Amino acid sequence: MIPLARPPLDDELAASLQRRGDELVRKGADGDGARRAWNGARADRGRLRELLAGMASGIERCMYCGDSLGTSIDHFEPLKEAPLRAFDWLNHLLACSMCNSNEKRDRFPRASCGTPLLVDPSRDDPYDHIRLVLATGRYRWRTERGESTVEVFGLNRSDLVLGRMAAVERTEAMVLARGIALDAGNEAKATRLLVSLLNHPFVDVLYAMVRTADSPGAVTVLEPATVVGLKDPVYGFRIRAS
Ligand SMILES: [Zn+2]
Repeated sequence: MIPLARPPLDDELAASLQRRGDELVRKGADGDGARRAWNGARADRGRLRELLAGMASGIERCMYCGDSLGTSIDHFEPLKEAPLRAFDWLNHLLACSMCNSNEKRDRFPRASCGTPLLVDPSRDDPYDHIRLVLATGRYRWRTERGESTVEVFGLNRSDLVLGRMAAVERTEAMVLARGIALDAGNEAKATRLLVSLLNHPFVDVLYAMVRTADSPGAVTVLEPATVVGLKDPVYGFRIRAS
C-alpha cells in the first residue's frame, strides 16, 4: 500500500453526487437503500471509476494490495455503517475483488474512542503505520491501525508475499539497468524503464526501496545513490502509462 493523491471532482459530477447524497439524507436511507441508490447511479459510478483508475498506482491497480486490477469501487467506510456516505467522493477507493469482497467485506474496525482502525491510502501515509520488509515480502505494522489494516485487507496473504519477493528481484534489476542507461547517456531508455517500473504491479516494492534508502541505518536492497533519481517520480507518480 502506498500513498495516493485524490484529484478534485469536476463541478458537474460534484453537483450530481451532492444531489444524490442529499436525497439519501432526505429519505433517511439505511444500508440497503444506499446500496440501491448507488447501484442505480450507473453514469456517476462510471465517471468515479475513471477518476479512481487515474489515481491508482500502475495500470489501475487495487489501492490496497497493488497487485490485481482494481475492479470495483470500495466504500472505505462500508454502506452498512455509513449509508449517507454512499456518494461521498472521499469515501471511494478502487479495490480488487479479493481485497474487497473476500478480505475486507463489511469490516471496518474502530478503536474504543471510535477512530477508524484502517489506513486510507488517500488520506494517510501508509508508511507511518505499515512497513514492507523487502527481505521477506511481508508487511509488519508499527501501529494498531497498521495491524488492523494488514489483517483486514489480508496484506500478508501468501500470493502477495510471493509476488512481492519476485517483484524485489525484478525491480532491483530494472533500477540497476536504468542507472546503467543513464550512465551511458541513454535517457530515452532510462525513461522507458522508469515508466515500466511505475506500471508494474507491486509498486509498493519500489516505493519501499526508495523510502528505505532514505532511512538512516536501514538495510537497503540498493544503494541510496542508485535510487535517488527515483524519489520524485515514485513519490509523485508523475509518469504514467502512455
Ligand atoms: Zn487488492
